[in-house]
Amino acid sequence: MNSGEQSSQEKGQPGFYRAALFGLCPQCSERTLFAAPARIADTCASCGLNLAELERGSRAAGVVTIVVAAALIGLALWIEDTFRPPLILQMIVWTVVTVAAVLGALRAFKTYMLMVSYERALERQSEHGAEHDEGDQ
Ligand SMILES: [Zn+2]
Repeated sequence: MNSGEQSSQEKGQPGFYRAALFGLCPQCSERTLFAAPARIADTCASCGLNLAELERGSRAAGVVTIVVAAALIGLALWIEDTFRPPLILQMIVWTVVTVAAVLGALRAFKTYMLMVSYERALERQSEHGAEHDEGDQ
């Protein structure tokens, strides 16, 4: 779509992996994306970008949590069946693993959805700008 502008656009924007890992704002690349470990902030504290508006479409986050949790439960049952580790050890390990995996998946998913809707918002803005110019004439 934006083949010509790609190189100039990429300059100010963080790559997806870095953005997901550090919670970088898609507009200014500051670490302002997450208000809590897996909750997107309402607005960027640095550039004022309306993050809540951009996040509105990503209701599927609950599905991501369920899928990750189901996969972990399956893995836990398999390990329990195969290795029979002490229960206390399992409880500690699985608590840590579950929290880390769900948070990681949610952060990656939310960051991805936010970056996609940010791109769409940019495209929509340029379209609206063009329409507005025509309407003025
Ligand atoms: Zn920002």
